[in-house]
Amino acid sequence: MRVMIFADMEGVAGIQSWEHVGGSSPFYPEGRELYTNEINAAVRGCKAAGATEIIALDGHGGSYPSGKPFMSWINSKLEPSAQYIQGYAWARYVEPMQRGEIDCVLFVGAHAMAGVPNGVLCHTVSSEAWNNATINGTLVGESGIVAAVAASFGVPSIFVSGDQATCEEVVNLIGPNVVTAAVKIGLGRYAARNMAPQDACDLIETKVKEALENRDNWPKPVHFDSPVTFHVELATSDRAAAFQGREGVTITGPRSVEASGATFWEAWDKFWYRS
Ligand SMILES: [Zn+2]
Repeated sequence: MRVMIFADMEGVAGIQSWEHVGGSSPFYPEGRELYTNEINAAVRGCKAAGATEIIALDGHGGSYPSGKPFMSWINSKLEPSAQYIQGYAWARYVEPMQRGEIDCVLFVGAHAMAGVPNGVLCHTVSSEAWNNATINGTLVGESGIVAAVAASFGVPSIFVSGDQATCEEVVNLIGPNVVTAAVKIGLGRYAARNMAPQDACDLIETKVKEALENRDNWPKPVHFDSPVTFHVELATSDRAAAFQGREGVTITGPRSVEASGATFWEAWDKFWYRS
């Protein structure tokens, strides 16, 4: 069994403020520790289920100016027997899936899409730049985008940990067979009822193992009819300028842009920044 784990930081237990996920705040080092512990728990769950290859990707950009892009784990504490992708553009590391070397995708530390009332630190890609995103008219958050990327290569997304709103969002998109580990309940965007970090890690490890061992009941890769259109409603009109002249990207309104392709990956590859 070969697994890719797409990790993010906002959905980790104990985290409910931007200060925890980037910048020079004293909360950021604690956030990194909590984040590292949860990815380690997921890796242990994979190993317990007999996974032969585990590739974990740090998908947390760091939202503060001095936040570290895609490298928030504490490397010296990472669980052995897995590989860790760091510093790479978001939702772009697909080579193992292109080669047919990945059986399933997991989400750890995921957060809800923009505008979800009890979604802790909810946003879609950028709080400042994007209001929302759709695939063929279906609203998606970051987990939906990554699930659609994986599905482009026939790979199912089978597990999610994060707050309760995120778990519901992923089940709504992918179906009830996704295994969920809700490690906190949002009490607004900046407040949460959290599990103790150790309890959250235990839950993640147990549920990841359970998900991987239940291959007969894995959800199918999320399906979108071809051609697949990815549409983004930007927050402000100046954001559209960044897409001017981009081949394959259409500016459809003062604050809206889209791209299409035979698969979601084809659309995403035209649309998304390479670094
Ligand atoms: Zn993040």
